[in-house]
Amino acid sequence: MLKGKRAVVTGSNSGIGHGIALELAKAGAEVIINSFTDRDEDHAMAAQMSAETGATVRYIAADMSKGEDCRALIEKAGGCDILVNNAGIQHVAPVEDFPVEKWNAIIAINLSSAFHTSAAALPGMKAKGWGRIVNIASAHGLTASPFKSAYVSAKHGVVGLTKTIALEEAGKGITCNAICPGYVLTPLVENQIPDTMKQYNMDRETVIRQVLLDRQPSKQFVTVEELGGTTVFLCSDAAAQITGTTISVDGGWTAM
Ligand code: NAD
Repeated sequence: MLKGKRAVVTGSNSGIGHGIALELAKAGAEVIINSFTDRDEDHAMAAQMSAETGATVRYIAADMSKGEDCRALIEKAGGCDILVNNAGIQHVAPVEDFPVEKWNAIIAINLSSAFHTSAAALPGMKAKGWGRIVNIASAHGLTASPFKSAYVSAKHGVVGLTKTIALEEAGKGITCNAICPGYVLTPLVENQIPDTMKQYNMDRETVIRQVLLDRQPSKQFVTVEELGGTTVFLCSDAAAQITGTTISVDGGWTAM
C-alpha cells in the first residue's frame, strides 16, 4: 500500500516509534529509523527490520533536541513523503521544583523537533503534491496531570502545531494529524514505575492498576502495533480528508 513512499520516524529505536516504523515497513514504505545514539545495534535494528519486512530500512542518527539536527535528518534521508514526529522524553516534578534543563529538553525534543522536521520536509511534499505528517502527541495533549508541566505543555503545543500545519497545507494533498495515545508499556512508562512504587508504597501490579491505568477505562495498555496500524491508516487514501485533527487511542481515557 505504501510502496514508493519514504517514511522518517523520529525516535524509533525503541517503543512506539519502533512499532510504527515496523508497521510502515510492513505496508511497503521505505523507512528511516532515528535516534541520537548511533550504536551498532541501532544499525543492526534497521537491517533486521529490512530482512523481516523486505522493505528498505536505514538508520540515521540525529539529536532531536537540536534544530539543525532535525533539519539535517530530513536532508540526509533525501526528503520524505511520510513524517512521523515521535521522539519524546518525560520528567515528573512539581512546577516549583521542575529542573529548568528538563523543561528545556522536553520542549525541544517533544515539541520544537516537530516544527523543525516539518519545516524541512514540507517543500518536498509540496513539490510531489502528497505528504503525511503524523505527530505522536498524547492523551496529555488534550488533558493534564499534575507534575507533568513540561510534557503536558509540549503535547498541547504539538496539537496546536498539527492544526496549524493542516490549515497551511489544506487542499495540497498533504495532511497533518496527531495521534493521542493513552498509556503504552514502553521504556518511557517502565521508568516511571519504580519511583511511583516508592512514592505510593505500592507493588508493581498495584501501581499499574491503580495509578497508571486509573484513568484508562479499558484497564489495558495501548500497544505499539495498534499505534502503527493507526499511522498506516492515516497514510492511506481513505484518510485523505482527515487533517488537523487528533485521534485518541487511549482505551476511553479522554471520554471521561
Ligand atoms: P521510549 O522511551 O520507548 O522511546 C522514545 C524514543 O525517543 C526512543 O527511540 C529514543 O531514542 C528517542 N529519543 C529520545 N531523545 C531523543 C533525542 N534527543 N533525539 C532523537 N531521539 C530521541 O518512549 P515511547 O513511550 O515509545 O514514546 C514515544 C513517543 O510516544 C513520545 O513522544 C511519547 O511522549 C509518546 N507517548 C508515549 C506514551 C506511553 O504511554 N508510552 C503515551 C502517549 C504518548
